Amino acid sequence: MHCSHCGLCCEKTEMLLSSRDVKRLETAGYDRQTFLRHDSNGFVKMKNRRGFCVFYDAEKCRCKVYRHRPLGCQIYPVIYSEYDGIVIDELCPQKNTINESERRKKGKKVIMLLRIIDEEALIRNESYSGQNSGSLNESGQAISYLKHICI
Ligand code: SF4
Repeated sequence: MHCSHCGLCCEKTEMLLSSRDVKRLETAGYDRQTFLRHDSNGFVKMKNRRGFCVFYDAEKCRCKVYRHRPLGCQIYPVIYSEYDGIVIDELCPQKNTINESERRKKGKKVIMLLRIIDEEALIRNESYSGQNSGSLNESGQAISYLKHICI
């Protein structure tokens, strides 16, 4: 994959963050209040500022946290589509530089990330509501996650 740093994938980002993503950015020196937001379904997402991810430098066309960026950003443009499964996002102008082996590897990471983010949202929702169901409904939660990650 050869990224041209066009910034299209950082515009009005809906990027979901795992707790590991948050920790990595905090360890790099960023206060979580400055970059994350919670949605009404218990998912943690990257904040936008002036139409782009808070970490996107529009003047230099660069991600300011490239080495520490969320796993979803690292995996992109391989995404999970609710209808087509693992796909390469049509939006990315460099989509043709991804080979089959990379697509497969990143596809596995998307699924892994989906499960982690989903479980974390479920736990967050349970602790907010004071409930503890004791079990995770992975498929049901995965569907709710997919509605948020699909772009
Ligand atoms: S963290 Fe970096 S790569 Fe990810 S959306 Fe923000 S600016 Fe783009």
